[in-house]
Amino acid sequence: TKFSDLNLDAKVLKAIEEAGYETPTPIQAGAIPAALDGRDVLGIAQTGTGKTASFTLPMINMLGRGRARARMPRSLVLAPTRELAAQVAENFDTYAKYTKLTKALLIGGVSFKEQDALIDKGVDVLIATPGRLLDHFERGKLLLTGVQVMVVDEADRMLDMGFIPDIERIFSLTPFTRQTLFFSATMAPEIERITNTFLSNPEKIEV
Ligand code: AMP
Repeated sequence: TKFSDLNLDAKVLKAIEEAGYETPTPIQAGAIPAALDGRDVLGIAQTGTGKTASFTLPMINMLGRGRARARMPRSLVLAPTRELAAQVAENFDTYAKYTKLTKALLIGGVSFKEQDALIDKGVDVLIATPGRLLDHFERGKLLLTGVQVMVVDEADRMLDMGFIPDIERIFSLTPFTRQTLFFSATMAPEIERITNTFLSNPEKIEV
């Protein structure tokens, strides 16, 4: 498979080419076409397999040229730690370079002020840790009813860190009609339960 066979937008392909990627990794070759088809995705993959691009690229493609509305992000990526969320945000900037899509990174350890300003203005993509996202929600600053695509990254680490109740709560705040791209390195029983509850007939890709 080549990236050019994956039905990605020319703007996305250009950014990938500039990043120096030649061929999709196995998780990318599996997840990207399924996600672009509108399927939910359950990816069993470790860090280093290219999984970040496997959800970021189709997400960028699917958001297309729609417009961001104040306090209503169109897409949400949850990562277990500040560092991981920041890495996803960096990847997003690289791959979305030729689009007009906007993002906000919501992580702890930074003041709410800057994050509030971005949310108020309206962003296409929120990249967040679960606790900080819920903090914003509780403060009445954020609505998740416009989320079309939701990504959960490193679910096994979310489990280790005690974030599963937060994740369930966040799922329940988003529309039933959303598309879900869910990634975990392992399938613990608790992870299995979550995916059975919140994913709809997912394409399972194990690498
Ligand atoms: P990840 O598993 O998402 O943390 O990605 C691991 C590393 O592989 C990152 O540095 C990416 O920039 C890089 N990468 C992702 N996809 C590809 C690809 N198709 N070809 C070459 N490098 C890639």
